[in-house]
Amino acid sequence: MFAELQQDEDELQRFRDLARCNDGVGSMVGLFFSEQLDDIARAKAICAKCPVREECFEGAVARREPWGVWGGQLFLNGKVLAFKRKRGRPPKNPQAQQIA
Ligand code: SF4
Repeated sequence: MFAELQQDEDELQRFRDLARCNDGVGSMVGLFFSEQLDDIARAKAICAKCPVREECFEGAVARREPWGVWGGQLFLNGKVLAFKRKRGRPPKNPQAQQIA
């Protein structure tokens, strides 16, 4: 039993050491749980080069993460969102806005 717990703790520490979002002080928490599209894109870019990305993603799916970027994907209520829209209504006539 103790050996299993120690193995789990060692594995968790290995994960923490490799996670690109872990700077030891939590300075990236806001980025990974932001609603801003540019923040979400930056978080996904950080994940793209993370050596534990697959483990992170699988864990997030298993835990049904309610929100945030995990393993390079944006989660909402335990599901992956293919894309996130900007807040507010879409423009009625986007071409007219480009001309103005
Ligand atoms: S995949 Fe992204 S969220 Fe997961 S540990 Fe790596 S940087 Fe952090």
